[in-house]
Amino acid sequence: MTDIRTLLHRSTRELAAGGSPSPRLDAEVLLMNFLETDRLQLCMRPERELTEEECTGYSRWIERRRRGEPVAYIAGGKEFWSLFFEVNRNVLIPRPETECLIEEVLKCCGREAGHLQIIDIGTGSGAIGVVLAKELPSARVVVTDISRGALTVARRNADRHGVAGQIKFLEGHLFASAVGEFDVIVSNPPYIPDDVYPLLPEGIRAFEPREALIAGPDGITFHRKIIGEGAGRLKPGGRIFLEIGEGQKGIVAALFQAKGLYDNIRFRADYGGMDRVAMARKTEKGTE
Ligand code: SAM
Ligand code: GLN
Repeated sequence: MTDIRTLLHRSTRELAAGGSPSPRLDAEVLLMNFLETDRLQLCMRPERELTEEECTGYSRWIERRRRGEPVAYIAGGKEFWSLFFEVNRNVLIPRPETECLIEEVLKCCGREAGHLQIIDIGTGSGAIGVVLAKELPSARVVVTDISRGALTVARRNADRHGVAGQIKFLEGHLFASAVGEFDVIVSNPPYIPDDVYPLLPEGIRAFEPREALIAGPDGITFHRKIIGEGAGRLKPGGRIFLEIGEGQKGIVAALFQAKGLYDNIRFRADYGGMDRVAMARKTEKGTE
């Protein structure tokens, strides 16, 4: 038998020795998830004794973390938009900066009446599509992904948050399996340039799906296609919101400007000060 305080202390030391940049937080989040409790309970009852079996199970989790596996995969989920999203190795772990993308969609569309048609391309865990369905109860959302494994996770997350009835799940390349026109296109597509991928932290490369991240020589293969095809898939005045990576603002602005199909081109920085969201509106003429 070991109590929570001792166990957390020991695990924190092990994770620190293993090189984790946030050993205490990792140990706490893993324990919270392992015991299916919350941080308040951990703090309020540090003297709670765990059984031998619980200690062994938790130690296995700590060992996985020590070998570099992301906390979210070990715990089986990640908090995003204050909701619990199930994740596994078929999906990218939702990143906090993606909340900025959602905030911009809601700022723009939250006040609009009527039944918005929204498409979330490359939905992964469903983070974007599920949150938008929850925040905009009269919206209809199509989510697409090339990965069947990802769509299975997205569907479970939609069920978990009670919005599966608002969402259509489509397997396929970008817009290929979707029909009709949309009021909003939103996407956090892969945007890591091929030659930057090998420089990403080992924990990302060894565990997260490569096809969720890598995006050609300049990292904007997907933006180019979504912006190019997007004008034909938006209703006049419809809007497009894309997450972007470091140094991609200029080239993405040029893509929006290229054929005069978009106006109101804007960018938003994330809380780290990096340009992270690219937005534009389809012009009234808006089609080639
Ligand atoms: N939307 C999720 C999020 O923000 O956490 C996941 C984003 S992840 C960066 C990109 C997603 O795009 C992955 O789930 C990947 O499977 C999907 N993807 C990659 N290529 C695709 C394609 N050609 N068509 C549709 N989805 C694709
Ligand atoms: N922000 C992610 C990372 O740095 C990349 C996400 C993406 O390619 N869309 O790992």
